[in-house]
Amino acid sequence: MEIAFSRLIQLQHVDRDIQTINSLLEAVPAKLDAIDQAIRRTAEIVAEAKDKLAANQKKRRGLESEVKAFKEQAAKFRRQLNDVKTNKEYSALLKEIEDASGKVDGIEEVILQEMISADDIEKDIKTAQEKQTVEETRLREERTTIQAEQKELEARRDVLLKERAAVLPTIPPDQARLYLRISRKMAGVAMSPVTDDFCSICQLRVRPQMLDDLMAMKEIITCEACGRILYWAKPPEEEDGEEDKADTTAGPE
Ligand SMILES: [Zn+2]
Repeated sequence: MEIAFSRLIQLQHVDRDIQTINSLLEAVPAKLDAIDQAIRRTAEIVAEAKDKLAANQKKRRGLESEVKAFKEQAAKFRRQLNDVKTNKEYSALLKEIEDASGKVDGIEEVILQEMISADDIEKDIKTAQEKQTVEETRLREERTTIQAEQKELEARRDVLLKERAAVLPTIPPDQARLYLRISRKMAGVAMSPVTDDFCSICQLRVRPQMLDDLMAMKEIITCEACGRILYWAKPPEEEDGEEDKADTTAGPE
């Protein structure tokens, strides 16, 4: 029976390419999630700065009403100054007025500091918004690129699946079954080229007699170690010396 080496090798190439594409496609959702997360993060930074400004404004409103209350208190004490009968009462009121005014001064100092930090927060908001615009544009472009690549990979896989469906029936059924059985067991790699005298995948040395049989390509020979289907592949041209080793195409005796 003729062994369909070229079609088995073609099937292996197609399967390997499908496998590569599948693993690239499997990585896409995580990449898109990471981009979405980064987009959300840029918006969060703006929102956090805005929250900080709102808290600052709320604090200032609270302080301003405290100032108002202490000012009213001082005014009330000042009005009472006209009605006091004794020096003791008078100086007690003066002390109250002084305390209230002192509190007003202290709080107004805090309000001033809060106003200065509000300016800084507003600058932070502006910076965060500018960064958000730039980053979001960049991230959305990246997202579009990944999605375009995804479409391209899916289209390429469709072509490969069609090629696979066309090649598989042209391989004699027992050979196809053997290929599929080894492929399932060996993570999708059923074929191993022998370029010098090693199984190129598990590196087991092929016995000389077996090498002759491999070159004859008349039967299916599986690797004694990894069980993959071995096939003879001419070694690539060696550019730099060791010509004696490249001379492995000498015919059989
Ligand atoms: Zn092997």
